[in-house]
Amino acid sequence: MPQERVLVIEDSFETQQLLAELVLEPNGYRHIQALDGEEGLRLALEEEPDIIVLDMQLPKMNGLEVLEALQEHQLDTPVIFTTVRESVELVVQAFRLGARDYVIKPFGPLEMQDAIQRVLSATTLREERDQLTQQLVDANQQLQRQLQELNVIYTVGRSVTSLLDPNRVLNRVVDAAVYLVGAEEGMLLLLDDEREELYLRAAKDVDEKVARTLRVRVEDSVAGRVIESGRPVFMTGERAKVITGYLSKALLYVPLRAPERGTIGVLGVINREDERVFSERDIFLLSALADYAAIAIENARHFEALEAERVKLETVLREAQGAIIVVDEQSNVLLANEAACTALGLVEPDLLHHPVDEVLPHASLCSLFTEVHDTGKATRSEVSLEDGRTFNAQITPISGVGRVLMMQDITHLKEMDRIKSEFVTAVSHDLRTPLTTIQGYIELLPRAGSLSTQQHEFILRARESMETIISLINTFLDIDRLEAGLEMELEPCDLIQIIESEIETWRPQMEKHLELRWEPPETLSTVEGHPYRLRQIVHNLLSNAIKYTPEGGWVSVSAEDDDGYVVVHVADNGIGIPPAQQPYIFDKFYRVESEETLGMTGSGLGLAIVKTVVDKHNGRVWVESRPGLGSVFSFILPVSQQTRTS
Ligand code: ADP
Repeated sequence: MPQERVLVIEDSFETQQLLAELVLEPNGYRHIQALDGEEGLRLALEEEPDIIVLDMQLPKMNGLEVLEALQEHQLDTPVIFTTVRESVELVVQAFRLGARDYVIKPFGPLEMQDAIQRVLSATTLREERDQLTQQLVDANQQLQRQLQELNVIYTVGRSVTSLLDPNRVLNRVVDAAVYLVGAEEGMLLLLDDEREELYLRAAKDVDEKVARTLRVRVEDSVAGRVIESGRPVFMTGERAKVITGYLSKALLYVPLRAPERGTIGVLGVINREDERVFSERDIFLLSALADYAAIAIENARHFEALEAERVKLETVLREAQGAIIVVDEQSNVLLANEAACTALGLVEPDLLHHPVDEVLPHASLCSLFTEVHDTGKATRSEVSLEDGRTFNAQITPISGVGRVLMMQDITHLKEMDRIKSEFVTAVSHDLRTPLTTIQGYIELLPRAGSLSTQQHEFILRARESMETIISLINTFLDIDRLEAGLEMELEPCDLIQIIESEIETWRPQMEKHLELRWEPPETLSTVEGHPYRLRQIVHNLLSNAIKYTPEGGWVSVSAEDDDGYVVVHVADNGIGIPPAQQPYIFDKFYRVESEETLGMTGSGLGLAIVKTVVDKHNGRVWVESRPGLGSVFSFILPVSQQTRTS
C-alpha cells in the first residue's frame, strides 16, 4: 500500500471531504488538510508532503502565490492545481511556477486519482533517474580513481624495469605509496645483513632529523613484526609509533618479499595528524608497490653481484701473466690484456672493436683465429713470430662470447730444448763408438777363455742392456736425422700394402692374446711418401696398441679416403690415456706414468718419431682416448697424384 502523504489546500470543505473519502483513503494515501493558502504553505513547509493538491482560488493567499512561495523556499514537492476556469494564461503561469498537472473543477474522483498517480509515478521515475545518475557519477569517479591508481602503479612498475638505479626506483615507490593512500609520510625500511635491524632506505616527508638516524630493531618494533610474520600490519592510536618518541595517529606497514630471501624490508605509510584508518584497498595498493620495490632491490643486488664478478674476471684477465686476447663472434677484439699488448707490441685502444685480422700484424695468429672460427674447436699451436720469439698459443671458442687466445712466450723453453737436443745428440754420437767397442769386447769375452755358467749369465745380461742402449741412441739419432730432413725423397706408396705387411709381422705374436681387426678398404688412394718411414708410423702405432692393451682385448686398423687425404686409424680397447697427458705424448721421451704402465718398458720416442714422420709428409696425427676404454690414433696424409684403384 502506498504511504504517500497528500496535502490538499482547498477552502471548500465538501471538496476536502470528497477527496478524502473517494480518492485518498481508498487508495491508501494519507490526507493532510489546509483550508486556506497560508495554512497550506505552512503545512507544506513543515510536513514536506509527497504531493500537494492546490486550489487556485483560496482565501489569504491564492494558489499562484502559494506556488511562488514554495518555489522561493525551494520546495520540490509536486503540485496538482485545481481551477474552475481553464485559462491558458493561468495554466502557463502555474506551470512556470513549478506545478506538474491540473484538474478542472468540478472533477470526478477518478479524474483526480489519475492525476495524483500520474504525478507520483512521474516523480518516482524522476527520482529513480536522479538516483541512477548519481550512482553512475559515483561509479565513474571510482573508476577514474582506480584508473589513476593503476596508472601510478604501472608507472612505478615501468621504472623498475627501465631504471637500474635502485635509489630512484625506491624513492618513486615511497612517493607513490604516500600519494595513492593519501598519507602524510612514507618510508621504506630494509633489513641489515645480520637481519637484526631495519634501516631507512627511502622516505617521503619524514622528519629529516629522524630520517637521518632511523634504525629500528626487528625484535621489538612494529616494523619488525611485519618482518617476522611476513604480513601487513596496521595500527591506530597510542600503539602506532614508528620509534620511541615518533608517534603517529595511524600507520600501515606491508612486507617487501623477495623470492629467494623471504621478507627483506617494509614499506610503510604514516599519518601523524589525520586519524583516518587505512583501508583494505590501501593494503592492496601498498602491497603492489612493495612487490615492485622488492623486485628493484633484487635486480640491483643481482646486477651488483654480476658487475662485481665481471670486474673481478676482467681484472684477472688483465693482470694475468699470460697474453690474452678475446674476440667476439664477429672477430672484433673485445679485450687485449697488458701482457698481450707488450708481447705483440700493440696498444689496446687501437685494437678494441676492430676486426682481429686487421689489427693483429701476425698472420700465423690470425689464421689460428680463423681456424677455430671455422671448426668451432679449440686448437693449440706453437707460433713463431718474425722476431724469432716462439709462443705457445691456444685458442678456445666460448659460446656466447667468441674466442679467447692465450699465449705464453716459450722462446727460452724452445732454446733450452734445442740445447738439450744438441747435447743429447752430441752425447749420443760420442757414446756410440765406445759403446760399440764395449759391445764388441763383450762378444769376444767367451772366446778369451772358459767361463762359468754364472759368468755366461752376466755377459748375456750385459749384452742385452748394451743392445737396448745402442738401440735407444740409434732411435734418437734417427729422429735427429729426420728433423734435419735427411733421406726424405718421396714416392707414391700403397698404404694397404704397408699396413698388411706390418700386420703380418705382428700377427703371430698378437693372436695369442689379442683379437686383430683389419678389413682392407676396396680402394685407397696412394700417398706421396717414404715407404720405410710410413712403415715406421704403422709399426710404432701398432706396437703401442698391442703393448697397452691387456690380454683378451682387441686392436683394429682401418684406412679410407677422405677429401684429398688418406686417413688411417689404429684403435684399441686398452688402458687409454688420461686427458691431461694427451697433449704431451708426442713429445720426445714423454711417457705416461700410471699404475697401468708400471713395469712397462719403452723409450718415449715411438710417438715422437710418428709425429716427425707425419709432419714431414705434410700430414697430421692425433689421438682420441678415454682412460679404461681405449685409444684411437689417427693420421692423415695427402693423396698423391697417382691413385690406387684396385
Ligand atoms: P713408449 O716407448 O713409452 O711406448 P711412445 O712415444 O710410443 O713411448 O708413447 C708415449 C706414451 O704414450 C707411452 O708411454 C704410453 O703411456 C702412451 N701411449 C702410446 N700409445 C698408447 C696406447 N695405444 N694406449 C695407451 N697409451 C699409449
